[in-house]
Amino acid sequence: MTRSKILERIYNKIITQADIITFELDKDNRIVYVNSVYEKYLGDMEWQDMEMSNPDVLKKLVHKEDLEECLTLFINLELNECRSVICRIKDVTGHYKWYRITLCNFYDEEFGEFTRKIGMMQDVNNELTAFRQIKDYEEYDSITGLYNENKFEFEARALILSNPDVNFCTITFDINKFKIINEVYGTKLGNTVLKYVASVIKKVIPSMAICSRLYADNFAVFMPFFTDEDIVSIVWEIHEKIAQNPYNLTLHTSYGIFRADSPAKLEMQIDTMKDRALIAKSTIKKDVINYYVFFSDEVGNEIVMEQDIEKNMHTALKEKQFEVYLQPKVELSTEKLMGAEALIRWRHPEKGLIGPDNFVPIFEKNGFIIQLDKYVCEEVCKLINKWVKMGIKPVPISVNISRLHIYNDTIVSYLLELVEKYEVLPEYLRFEITETLFVGNMEALVDILQQLRGLGFKVEMDDFGSGYSSLNMLRNVPVDVIKIDKEFFDEKMSDNKGKIVVSHTIAMAKELDLEVLAEGVETEEHAQFLKDSNCDMAQGYLFSKPMTLYEFENRFLANNL
Ligand code: C2E
Ligand code: CA
Ligand code: CA
Repeated sequence: MTRSKILERIYNKIITQADIITFELDKDNRIVYVNSVYEKYLGDMEWQDMEMSNPDVLKKLVHKEDLEECLTLFINLELNECRSVICRIKDVTGHYKWYRITLCNFYDEEFGEFTRKIGMMQDVNNELTAFRQIKDYEEYDSITGLYNENKFEFEARALILSNPDVNFCTITFDINKFKIINEVYGTKLGNTVLKYVASVIKKVIPSMAICSRLYADNFAVFMPFFTDEDIVSIVWEIHEKIAQNPYNLTLHTSYGIFRADSPAKLEMQIDTMKDRALIAKSTIKKDVINYYVFFSDEVGNEIVMEQDIEKNMHTALKEKQFEVYLQPKVELSTEKLMGAEALIRWRHPEKGLIGPDNFVPIFEKNGFIIQLDKYVCEEVCKLINKWVKMGIKPVPISVNISRLHIYNDTIVSYLLELVEKYEVLPEYLRFEITETLFVGNMEALVDILQQLRGLGFKVEMDDFGSGYSSLNMLRNVPVDVIKIDKEFFDEKMSDNKGKIVVSHTIAMAKELDLEVLAEGVETEEHAQFLKDSNCDMAQGYLFSKPMTLYEFENRFLANNL
């Protein structure tokens, strides 16, 4: 036996003795090896080829609150780096316990590349819970003093068992854009708001009801009910009291409700009831007045559709069912074509043409948007390459880049390879990054944007004015163009004040040397106003709807030869 084999055996023995799960990942973050310790903690789990950087896979094991940190560990580990995170993992007991995961990236000198990651996972629950005063920590949420998720499930089940003839409902709710409140006003005020919400719930719910903060700003109520009106009146009261908070904040809440109103439903896991309430909540369109949704077959169908989309997305990409449409951007003073935005469509073999609002949010949740955005970039590069070869002078094409790329910084090297492969000048490829991204993750985002601009790409801030951005922020962000959000032209421009805001925004952006583009321009009146306000460019139905490449070439490029 060679010396290294002997050493390997000794290491294995020590690690098993020390009760540490060790595992090995390939370059795609798939598990290729796990030592036998895992059985003790994770039971009879199918680990072969599990992809640890896939949010859907990780979600099944890791607590929601720790998911992002864990994902970052697997996705963003630097070369030659070793890093640890402490997170809650649902182990063989079915409960979340604290584990420390350590991951190291090894450079394989022989092959000149990083082929393997080595990881360790260690139970640190006892150390941690002792530190955080076991009892309270396991049952109560430290900020609001409400039950935590485990205790909530336990007590809900106890309620059902002791009241066998009663119907119960699960209500879940959260505060819209709460993350932004935290980021803009600080977590101290964020926590005060959470405590206020807890006090509201306790005041409003009936005596035989329990409540919990599940995670972040997600709360749950479990209570008996006779009619839907009982539920709606409680929901309404919570909603109103939170809206009338003493902090002068605009707090809008959204609710999902699941009714356990039959013996079969009352036997469901509390976890499932809660998930259904969360599913119902997730279907609320934020711009609609309705702030609550009951879980129903229809909601169930929406989930089926979502699953359908997820099932077919890989095939769709392979079979080129995704199609890039282009919408022209024109110079306001001359109406000359200045560029175009690439907007994706799904030409489904059975369902016909599907718009991005139906699938982009799903792909943002499951991570597939990374592949799709890369595909759009490649299609756009191919197109520009084709135009150049045909002797047509290209216009810059802007591609929407989803937030997920910020956590996965391979995008820059990918783009660089792409423009080299298709011999595209970076000035012809632009990126649209949505404004809300500039509020969180600022550092990572600025870093990526600076890299992109350093390479000669231009960056446009999309949807400006839709979120919480301030004009002041414009001083610090590395972008070339701001795109004024189309919502401005729905409501805000209907009165004089709205017009003042828009024209001053334009003036200030221009003083900061930014180009200004208005999107969603539908009427002559708006175009004239924007022209008078010195806005550079516009995009909208007034000039043209998004169209197929074929149409775009025929209408706009035929005379660019
Ligand atoms: P967005 O980036 O804000 O894109 C502009 C949307 O406004 C497009 O909708 C466009 O068709 C629509 N629009 C253009 N002119 C007008 C107008 O005058 N009036 C009105 N009411 N609407 C107008 P679309 O194509 O349905 O795209 C919706 C969203 O889907 C996009 O919003 C973008 O966030 C996302 N999306 C589209 N393609 C991609 C993609 O390739 N990657 C990523 N990550 N997201 C994409
Ligand atoms: Ca856009
Ligand atoms: Ca936009």
